[in-house]
Amino acid sequence: MRQTGRGQGIQVLNARGITTVGNLGSASDFTDIDNNWNNVNTNLDQFATDAYWGQEKTYDYYRNRFNRNSINNQGYLLRGYVHANLVSMYGIPNNVNAFWDTDKMLYGDGGTQNNVQVRPLTAVDIVGHEITHGLTQFTAALGNSGEAGVLNESFSDIFGTAIENYAKGYNFNWTVGENTGLIFRSLSNPNAYSHPDTYGGTF
Ligand SMILES: [Zn+2]
Repeated sequence: MRQTGRGQGIQVLNARGITTVGNLGSASDFTDIDNNWNNVNTNLDQFATDAYWGQEKTYDYYRNRFNRNSINNQGYLLRGYVHANLVSMYGIPNNVNAFWDTDKMLYGDGGTQNNVQVRPLTAVDIVGHEITHGLTQFTAALGNSGEAGVLNESFSDIFGTAIENYAKGYNFNWTVGENTGLIFRSLSNPNAYSHPDTYGGTF
């Protein structure tokens, strides 16, 4: 699951069984004998295809809308890892999460949250959100804390949503993550998911 057709490339690798970030170099490739990626199995490898498609569409969005060649405008290789064990790698409570970490995307396999069984975090709005953190790192460098961190998150939500709508032909929705089975945020009604809709507003 690799290509060199966009910038310096797009890749999705399999992090199953890897427990530390430092060992991601041993992640394996996904392969498909006929290049028709209907790789549905009990390991949930079909979600790798979602991540890959999302990474392609994110590249295409920035290229076609802003003439930008990947996140650093120099073709930066977009590499993602699915089946990432975020609990052991980062010490967070569960795998209902996805990250941009320095130079790569990591997608957790989901789990139970708010009594909902959440699927792997590879929906295109989430993929676009994480890659946009990379773009912000290369441009505004807003960091993760305080008002800068909140702006960083906001830009990722805004562009993640724009990327989803670009990818799906502008059949608009304003929610984040709905295709995982759980809505994390709403851009049209932030209060509905315990986020403020104005500076200093409720939540
Ligand atoms: Zn984020």
